[in-house]
Amino acid sequence: MADIIYTLAGKPYLNITNQCPCACTFCIRERHGSVGDAGSLWHQTDPTWHQIEQALAAFDFSRADEAVFCGYGEPFAQLENLKRTAQWLKTHYPKLKLRVNTNGLGDLIHNRPTAQELKGLVDALSISLNAPNAQRYAALCQPVYGEKSFDAMLSFAAQAKAFCPEVVLSVVAVVTPEEIEQCRAIAARLDLPLRVRALD
Ligand code: SF4
Repeated sequence: MADIIYTLAGKPYLNITNQCPCACTFCIRERHGSVGDAGSLWHQTDPTWHQIEQALAAFDFSRADEAVFCGYGEPFAQLENLKRTAQWLKTHYPKLKLRVNTNGLGDLIHNRPTAQELKGLVDALSISLNAPNAQRYAALCQPVYGEKSFDAMLSFAAQAKAFCPEVVLSVVAVVTPEEIEQCRAIAARLDLPLRVRALD
C-alpha cells in the first residue's frame, strides 16, 4: 500500500489522492517513483477516510510545526477527505500549521466554488500559477478542462484570499525569465506573493 503520510526534510506531507485533472509536463510523478521517505506514493485506489484516519492516528505530529497536503495528486480531487483530514489535525494538533499545495482547479473539479470550504481548516494555500496566460498554461499543464482552467485558477486564488491567512502563487522555473516576470505582474495584480520554485 502506498504511503498516505510521508516526510521530506523532517516535515510531514499528506498524500490523500492520485487523482489530478492536469498532466503537467514537469510533474514530479513522471520523473520520480517517490519522494522523501515514502516507499511509494501511488495508491492502488485512493485511500478511504477510514484508512486516512488510521494513518493519522499512527503518526506523531507533535514535533512538526507544519503539515502539507502534497502528494502524487491534487488534494482538491478528494475534497471531502481533505476537509476531514484537516479537521482531524486541527482537533488533535491545534498548533500545527496546515498548508495545501493545489493547482487551484477545485472549482472546475466540483463545479462549485470550493476555496471557501477550507475556511478555518487550513492556514496556507500555495496555488500553482505556472504560466502567464491561458494558452501557455494549457500547453504546460494540459488540464482536461482546456484553456478556461487558467481563469478558473485565478478566480480560485482571489476567493482564497478572502478567508485564508496565507495565499501564495507559485511558478516552476521551467518557463522563461520573461514569463516569470509576467507571472510576477499577475501576482501583484492579485496582491499575492509569487514563489519561483526550482524544478524538483
Ligand atoms: S497539478 Fe500537480 S500533481 Fe497534477 S500533473 Fe500538475 S504537477 Fe502533477
